[in-house]
Amino acid sequence: MYRTHTCGELRLSDKGKKVCLAGWVQKSRKLGGMTFIDLRDRYGITQLVVRADAAPELASVAEKLGREFVIQARGEVLERESKNPKLPTGDIEIQLESINILNRSVTPPFTIEENSDGGEEIRARYRYLDLRRPPLQRALALRHRLAQEVRNYLDAQGFMEIETPYLIKSTPEGARDFVVPSRMNPGQFYALPQSPQTFKQLLMVAGYDRYFQIVRCFRDEDLRADRQPEFTQIDCEMSFVEQEDVLNTFEGMMRQMFHNALGVDIANPIPRMDWYTAMDRYGSDKPDIRFGMEIHDITSLVKGCGFSVFDSSEYIGAIAVEGCGEYTRKQLDELTDWVKRPQVGAKGLVYIKIAHDGSIKSSVDKFYTAEQLQELVKTCEAKAGDLVLVLCGAKRKTQTQLGVLRIEMGNRLGLRDPKVFAPLWIVDFPLLEWSEEDQRFYAMHHPFTAPKPEHEALFYSDRKEDLEKVCANAYDFVLNGTELGGGSIRIHDAAMQSRMFDVLGISKEDAEYKFGFIINAFKFGAPPHGGLAFGFDRVCALFGGQETIRDYIAFPKNNQGRDVMIDSPSLIDQVQMDELCLKSTAGDKK
Ligand code: ASP
Repeated sequence: MYRTHTCGELRLSDKGKKVCLAGWVQKSRKLGGMTFIDLRDRYGITQLVVRADAAPELASVAEKLGREFVIQARGEVLERESKNPKLPTGDIEIQLESINILNRSVTPPFTIEENSDGGEEIRARYRYLDLRRPPLQRALALRHRLAQEVRNYLDAQGFMEIETPYLIKSTPEGARDFVVPSRMNPGQFYALPQSPQTFKQLLMVAGYDRYFQIVRCFRDEDLRADRQPEFTQIDCEMSFVEQEDVLNTFEGMMRQMFHNALGVDIANPIPRMDWYTAMDRYGSDKPDIRFGMEIHDITSLVKGCGFSVFDSSEYIGAIAVEGCGEYTRKQLDELTDWVKRPQVGAKGLVYIKIAHDGSIKSSVDKFYTAEQLQELVKTCEAKAGDLVLVLCGAKRKTQTQLGVLRIEMGNRLGLRDPKVFAPLWIVDFPLLEWSEEDQRFYAMHHPFTAPKPEHEALFYSDRKEDLEKVCANAYDFVLNGTELGGGSIRIHDAAMQSRMFDVLGISKEDAEYKFGFIINAFKFGAPPHGGLAFGFDRVCALFGGQETIRDYIAFPKNNQGRDVMIDSPSLIDQVQMDELCLKSTAGDKK
């Protein structure tokens, strides 16, 4: 046996025991005649001590131990003189009797402690060293715990975990596919799944009425802030269900995960909001409802009063920011610049300051009477000391900009406490989304989502206005302003599925080529079904109170989609290229 205990295990109650630990030397320091070593493994840190006067040879070995040496240490558990209340093992130390160096280490490129002095790039390159640090260990332990909770819950609910293939044909989630050339079928390619969507639906056709899988998905997207080209979903599908059944099942799963992993009891039932309300009130389909600051439509109040910017706008909306009525000119200018950034895209910002004495000052004073401004302030539910911020333009675009501004002000005012969890279901999504640019409809969720039964007639209409009104039994699970998951009740009828491809402007031949297998399967008794998928990496990050998913993935990629540790992607040799019948034109591109 290499060890009798882990480095996180020993307590005062173990005093007097002869023990053997194994781990990494985090730090070794000499204080007078004593050498102290912090020995670390993934369970914690234990202090080892050796006295030069009592054991001179051992002391000289201990002094020479470098950082990250792997050692086996034997000794006796003693009560510490100066205890460290910050460490669970802080009441004890091990008086060394022997040290066995199991392996040496070159000097690590950064400190491997709770907080490291290493920059992101270097830590990514030596990810296996960064993973020795407690914050990352905690992150991966949380991920493991949550995965177990998912499996326990779904197993108890009769779900079967079934694996689906990675080498498949294009999937319909709307991102770019990663593709893999087939050596045995020269010139042909597999696509890596953007999700197991079609397979889980085929499993429903096959009669496996409750399926789940914790599964890797691949999407070749430009990596905005917190995305990974490969990520993990908790993917689920059920047969003979309606939306209500799906929501209840997965609300239960979330509740259990929160309860068991964090000891937190989330809202019961989880509130629901339809998509239109979310857009109108929060300017987002993933509203953060930890705070108010809702959007108010003030179009009818301020349009047509001679202020040309408002008069020419389809929509004018406002939020009331609590306690910011004393914002200075400089602060307001900075905020105006902020909303004009391309990421927000507003043309300008109108403000109304309400001083503590209730007096009102605004950037549009000369167009409105004091009564009109009072009315506006009232509509926005602003009080003395608040600041009303107004944006205008096309309706949904302006609401979205107000939504972004609302989140920014929420951040600035500290209203987004990561320890508070406010889950929400967004329901009743529109089925289709019109793209002005491409002059065609796109599926808001994906092309397998069914229209609401009561909207079926509209779905078969040829009028764009009718199609825009069709809603789906589609739903998203939102937590603290982040979409953690989404799904829908599916089409299970071959004719309706063909109609959907038709509406999306996918030709019969194209639909047949890409999705013929599923249209065909639907001809063999497909049951009514529906499901959803959660982004597991993001679930972990939010449960951990962090914004970024990277810490919750053992070996993530950077913003350029590179794994800098293994240096991938990389060139392959000519033999491999020839076998795959590939010719690179990358050189020509440069
Ligand atoms: N496949 C969908 C997604 O990846 C989820 C679902 O509809 O079940 O977003």
